[in-house]
Amino acid sequence: MKALVCGAGIAGLTMAWHLERAGWEVEMVERAAAFRDGGYMIDFYGPGFQVAERMGLRQRLMEARYPVNELSYVDRTGRQTSHLTLTSGMEQVVSLLRGDLARAIADDVQAPIVYGASVESVEQGADGVSLRLTDGTSRDVDLLVGADGAHSRVRGLVFGDVAPRYLGHQVAAYMVNDEALNRRIGTRYQMLTEPGLMAGAYALRDDRLALLFLRREPDPALPADPAAALGRHFGHLGWILPEVLSRCPDPPELYYDQVTQVEMAHWHRGRVVLVGDACQAVSLFAGHGASMAMAGAWVLADELAAGRGDVPAAAARYQARMAPAIGEVQRFGRRFVKWMAPSNRWRIGVRDLLFRLAALPGGDRLFVNSLSPGGHHLITSRSG
Ligand SMILES: Cc1cc2nc3c(=O)[nH]c(=O)nc-3n(C[C@H](O)[C@H](O)[C@H](O)COP(=O)(O)OP(=O)(O)OC[C@H]3O[C@@H](n4cnc5c(N)ncnc54)[C@H](O)[C@@H]3O)c2cc1C
Repeated sequence: MKALVCGAGIAGLTMAWHLERAGWEVEMVERAAAFRDGGYMIDFYGPGFQVAERMGLRQRLMEARYPVNELSYVDRTGRQTSHLTLTSGMEQVVSLLRGDLARAIADDVQAPIVYGASVESVEQGADGVSLRLTDGTSRDVDLLVGADGAHSRVRGLVFGDVAPRYLGHQVAAYMVNDEALNRRIGTRYQMLTEPGLMAGAYALRDDRLALLFLRREPDPALPADPAAALGRHFGHLGWILPEVLSRCPDPPELYYDQVTQVEMAHWHRGRVVLVGDACQAVSLFAGHGASMAMAGAWVLADELAAGRGDVPAAAARYQARMAPAIGEVQRFGRRFVKWMAPSNRWRIGVRDLLFRLAALPGGDRLFVNSLSPGGHHLITSRSG
């Protein structure tokens, strides 16, 4: 059986990893010109972590993880306004770069990856899928997996127009190299919030600094010059921002996108199946997207193994297993929107107060328990 996986991100690589171990002949196509390293910091926990453990990745993730000892909010002068020291309970949460997670999975994937390419057209017959790729070549496969993220091309080709739900924010992330700033930030995740704006910084190894920007914006249209837009909206806020924004790169080094969730009635059509953000994006507000992407790929692989070649039936069972947990995480994410980049000073004050309360003994465990809901039950094998 042959499979083509479109998108070599977290979901696509996990899918390829499991399919090839189940005896599928797998090939991947990836739009980026080369492997996507770096990216942004993610907190990785929950069902995806269970999948990673089953894949034997625990040790590698522990080596790639960054210690986050404290979450702290600062004002325009860099003075701390509230903080939470993380001492206990955080062992279940691994903070690492999205690219390091992808790399850990990719290192154990044999499937060839065609970079700089995508799926151009898809035609489904009774027994298979005929594809044309953007490099002019074609393939006949038994399964096409669309793992090409929230703006999925496979979704557009096979399922028509599915408008992601815009959560009223735009997000940006990039890295700078700066030894002095790296030391200044240390092992704290530092954030500055002003009404409708949030900027965060975290120090990485090799003197790098990972930066995250979140901005409330009712208009989903992305700016023509994202680096200039960031400078306009955040450059006057003080702290380290003028310095790091003066070194803001252009895409693709600068990640800039709308914050969206993807909700679909059907995640599969015939032998074409979507995984990860392509069908179930939960958004950074839910803080669980990479984890759920890995869980989704694992569940689909499990159902394919249990279904002995009946792709449509396995795909239907995969969606039935995943969708309730995804709905729960998406609802959690929508509730969290107002706290990550609060829209007014009153809400920022309440957030700071909650942080101060959480700083009382045992508060960090409360914080960990308040991370988005589970889905742990998903990772129970049906295929044996
Ligand atoms: C700033 C930010 C912070 C986040 N924080 C967290 C967190 O703390 N915890 C967490 O678990 N999740 C977090 N997430 C969410 C998480 O990153 C995503 O949910 C996860 O990466 C989804 O995996 P995926 O493989 O479906 O999509 P992606 O990781 O987006 O991968 C999709 C792949 O498909 C490729 N592609 C795109 N279009 C095409 C095309 N047309 N043809 C071929 N290839 C294509 C892309 O280049 C990419 O390699 C965060 C997201 C953001 C933006």
